[in-house]
Amino acid sequence: MNTPSASVMNLQDITGCMSDCDPEALTVEQAQDIIREYIQPVCGTEKLTIRQALGRVLAVDITSPINVPAHDNSAMDGYALSGENLSGGQELSLKVIGAALAGIAFTGTIEPHQCVRIMTGAVLPAGCDTVIPQEFTSKVSDSEIRFSVGNLRAGDNRRLKGEDLAMGKIAVRKGKILTPADLGLLASLGIPEVSVQRRLRVAIFSTGNELRSLGEVLEAGSVYDSNRYTLYGMLTRLGCEVLDMGVVQDSPEALEAIMRSACENADAIITSGGVSVGDADHTRRMMERLGDISFWSIAMRPGRPMAFGKINSSGKSAYLFGLPGNPVAVMVSFYFFARQALQQLMGADTKPLPLISVKSDTAIRKRPGRTEIQRGILAMRDDGELGVSTTGSQGSGILRSMSEANCMIVLPHDQGSVAPDDKVRILLFEGLI
Ligand code: AMP
Ligand code: MG
Repeated sequence: MNTPSASVMNLQDITGCMSDCDPEALTVEQAQDIIREYIQPVCGTEKLTIRQALGRVLAVDITSPINVPAHDNSAMDGYALSGENLSGGQELSLKVIGAALAGIAFTGTIEPHQCVRIMTGAVLPAGCDTVIPQEFTSKVSDSEIRFSVGNLRAGDNRRLKGEDLAMGKIAVRKGKILTPADLGLLASLGIPEVSVQRRLRVAIFSTGNELRSLGEVLEAGSVYDSNRYTLYGMLTRLGCEVLDMGVVQDSPEALEAIMRSACENADAIITSGGVSVGDADHTRRMMERLGDISFWSIAMRPGRPMAFGKINSSGKSAYLFGLPGNPVAVMVSFYFFARQALQQLMGADTKPLPLISVKSDTAIRKRPGRTEIQRGILAMRDDGELGVSTTGSQGSGILRSMSEANCMIVLPHDQGSVAPDDKVRILLFEGLI
């Protein structure tokens, strides 16, 4: 069977290629698969200094222009010698004929039964391949040392030229999101600038007549728009440029204008609210009118309704994630669907975040047939093991639960209730780098 190439595939094609795929009852994994199939990375790169490149996506493989380390060198403070000396008796006495310090090489020649005082990192003198650590030697005089050969073998305590990285080998791969370690690695290779993918521009707006922006008066029945702030935070952490387009009232004219403007000025659009069935219908209808959009009901809690696809305006197009309105659902849907998709869009080599298995401190009620994401607090228990507890009430409007949590407890589709001390999987909010 001929399947259309990914670039011309619309959502119907992709969904049609997947067996057992019902937009009214998608599993989390099915929705993630469809999004992954549909997204095509944006093109465009820029050259930046390595400091500016922190958190950006590397656009080309970086091969090492040098050997690291550049020379065989010492891993210890001690004395450098030729391993051939070691074939003799148990006790060895060697004449110290000079010193090699980090940055100052010993350039003389070395004869049998001679050695050179050497410091960690110093280049091994010609003819030396072994270092005896200082603490295993005793001084006979200022120019002679003794040691027992014992367990020392030729080649010990030597770092080989190119053992970290050989010249011509790939040091950092295209698609890597650059970390502090990568900046150091690039610097160690003498590379001052790298080519990175251009920053993604992501437009956000909120829909709902009840929403008020900060600074506005909160009348009875209205709420402050918090989703634009959580989205701003999550997108900024992801390295995106955020185009905040405010709150839009639920009218066809206002929705069309904001959607077109977002589409013409951004690579992706993230909206919140207005995608549930029975919601004031203009948002859904306008999304549908402007592009290739599917409306899903995902078997998950929180976050069931979601719109996904692409809209077009004046010859430009932008991916669209129509997230639910509830503040916790917005964050959970962002982390489970938009985060990896945006990384893919920015050309990053993405992998699902690792889930960690830990014991649950408490019972958790859960019914099979949907993925549940509860807010958790991971902590060290009195018995020295890690345990996770929920933040309490898990309503999808309770943003405090997200703020207090340090992880999400991910209870998979087929899982039933959890008993105390059962293992559960968690997704930590913060990583080290
Ligand atoms: P909706 O998905 O539009 O039906 O919204 C579900 C719930 O989330 C409603 O209680 C809304 O008031 C609330 N909500 C929607 N958008 C926002 C927002 N931007 N900030 C805070 N709450 C919101
Ligand atoms: Mg609404």
